[in-house]
Amino acid sequence: MERKQFIHTLMGSSAILGLSSLRWLIDDQPETPTMPVLFIGHGSPMNAIEDNIFSRSWTEVSQKVAKPTAILVISAHWLTKGSFITAVDKPATIHDFGGFPQALFDVQYPAPGFPELARETANLFPDNLVHLDDEWGLDHGTWSILKHMYPLADVPVLQLSIDYHQPPVYHFEMAQYLQKLRKRGVLIVGSGNIVHNLGKVAWNKMGEVDFAFDWARESSELLKQKILSRDFKALIDYQKLGASTQLAIPTPDHYYPLLYALGLAQKEEEITLFNDYAVAGSLTMTSVAIGL
Ligand code: ZN
Repeated sequence: MERKQFIHTLMGSSAILGLSSLRWLIDDQPETPTMPVLFIGHGSPMNAIEDNIFSRSWTEVSQKVAKPTAILVISAHWLTKGSFITAVDKPATIHDFGGFPQALFDVQYPAPGFPELARETANLFPDNLVHLDDEWGLDHGTWSILKHMYPLADVPVLQLSIDYHQPPVYHFEMAQYLQKLRKRGVLIVGSGNIVHNLGKVAWNKMGEVDFAFDWARESSELLKQKILSRDFKALIDYQKLGASTQLAIPTPDHYYPLLYALGLAQKEEEITLFNDYAVAGSLTMTSVAIGL
């Protein structure tokens, strides 16, 4: 049998047997209203088990969003060489920290995975850019927030890793391949912190709401102004924003999730801030809602 004819026969028989319907395809899913995109400042892992202004605001924000079909999180705590997406049925709750109370290690967030959506999401990217992963689960950048947003853990959750060997513009542009998911009920969340310098944390000011060192305040104001005026180019080139921002973003792990969120902002969509507070001098919890 000639190859062309064989393929034709194969396709004909699968259509008769209905085999094509067995494969879950994103294009077969009904379109939904465009889902918003969030960047959430996650701060201390303790927020997972605390009832405070931040955790309450995460609950409130989830109540303004239609219940998602799935959640895709880009977390500051999954840094890789190459880009990966979690593709397991039951992602494990990863306790990726030390020195916290047992109660935090006892937290489980048993949300299901969604391997078919992971495969289809990887297919949205060109050149096999995103690989399927069966080793990672949900790190605390994801579950510390979602525990307050979706406490029943009844929405499937995926994570997309951050290729830490790529420049800032890569992350901004990567996000754009995810746009279609927003029309299929998927809530995309970047989880990090805009100002994040752990080496300069004022531990004795942990309990004081909105305490910021001068440089942290200065950089935070500048970065917020760039976000709200949609000067995304300046945010991609954040290393050129002066000494205060170099102190605010000494390493970009917690900043890159913001670039994923902003990369998804469409021209007509409103950008607003919430949880706009500093913590311990050198961190900000400032969070961004796009199209909410
Ligand atoms: Zn973190």
